[in-house]
Amino acid sequence: MRFLSCLFLFSFANATFAAEPTVYRAGVAVVKITPREPIWMAGYASRNKPADGPIHDLYAKALCLDDDKKMLVLLTSDLIGFPRELAEAVTSEVKMQTGLTRDRLMLTASHTHSGPVLRDNLADMYDLSPTEAKKVRDYNARLKDQLVDVIVRSIENRVPAVLSYGEGDAGFAINRRQATGKGVQIGLNPDGPVDHRVPVLKVESADRNKLFAVAFGYACHNTTLDLYQWSGDYAGFAQAELEKAHPGTVAMFWTGCGADANPTPRRLLAHAVKHGQSLATSVNAVLKTPMTPLTGNLHSQYETIRLDFAAMPTRDQLNADTKSTSFAHRTRAKRLLNDWEKNGSIADHYPHYPVQVWRVGTDLVWVALGGEVVVDYALRVRHELKGQGHLWVAGYANDVMAYIPSARVLHEGGYEADSSMIYYGMPSRWALTTEDRIIEATKRLAKVAK
Ligand SMILES: [Zn+2]
Repeated sequence: MRFLSCLFLFSFANATFAAEPTVYRAGVAVVKITPREPIWMAGYASRNKPADGPIHDLYAKALCLDDDKKMLVLLTSDLIGFPRELAEAVTSEVKMQTGLTRDRLMLTASHTHSGPVLRDNLADMYDLSPTEAKKVRDYNARLKDQLVDVIVRSIENRVPAVLSYGEGDAGFAINRRQATGKGVQIGLNPDGPVDHRVPVLKVESADRNKLFAVAFGYACHNTTLDLYQWSGDYAGFAQAELEKAHPGTVAMFWTGCGADANPTPRRLLAHAVKHGQSLATSVNAVLKTPMTPLTGNLHSQYETIRLDFAAMPTRDQLNADTKSTSFAHRTRAKRLLNDWEKNGSIADHYPHYPVQVWRVGTDLVWVALGGEVVVDYALRVRHELKGQGHLWVAGYANDVMAYIPSARVLHEGGYEADSSMIYYGMPSRWALTTEDRIIEATKRLAKVAK
């Protein structure tokens, strides 16, 4: 009898233990990255002068998660998107200082169009004078050091923590690919696909008395505003609202697959504030409901794959483009002709497309894709990885080299399939194999990341 009750007690204890969240260690750190001087703003070709001050400050924020075997760091930022060169500079410096390998760092951006120009991102969009170009180079050099520092500090700040997740929704994103008599153009397409989910990760002290951080996402361009003042757009207002509601908490925003979604309505400051509030309201509602505790180990995989271009331009086409009235066409053509001269050819593929998969415990799979990723990828990844846990899909992660249209969007054409490639300095549209290649890599990494 005594043996039986002992057995019973033992099983009961085990069952109780299994239901408890795992105690991880987590650390957060924040750095202000608002440019100190007026420099050029990112995202719109039409701007013709540098910024003239802030609406609010821009930040980079790092969250370190550690299960005692593996450490992961999520970096979020009020920036347009990491070019590969900056991401590589940051990750190799972090590796040198801390030993953290590339798979363990997820570099994300809000894609705010009210932040600074980053070198080598949208390379052929901005017509900068040598003075403005130097200001951008100087800012980027300082930014790299600030990003390394904030990541390292998040690692140093680790304390015992429990994690939980949930999902809300917000309705202000609208599909922007409008069919017109002249093909698909940027407009409003209320019937087009969108992803209105708001994934939320809650990071609390082990005794649950203190909310350290809340990381949340939304799949929509941060293009409410097109002014000349710095801001994180709706994502900046959402983070500020959450940090005001929870003093001492760091609110972190990452962008989902919202390359073909715009906020609606837009252009007024009041619109950005309102969208930020509705996102913060959704996150707060999730935080108030019982969230699912995360248990189990952390896993990470990172790979770069080759993406092919569809059809390469001829020399004659490029020579004609050097006489174009469009700055972006001229600059791209001159650069590609220069490459041709130097190397005897121009590359017919992009060699470094990044795919990253994290498992945060047994129940949450976090996929991070490079480039400006359209919504079809989030929908397909959820379908392909069904049954593997809750799936979060971030876009604009690790390297934003171009738009990443799906096969459907490539067939339909429009800005995301064609003309955006010019601003990104790419020689042509992507091949139709692009979507399947990215999905294959995602599935492969999800299998290994266990
Ligand atoms: Zn964009």
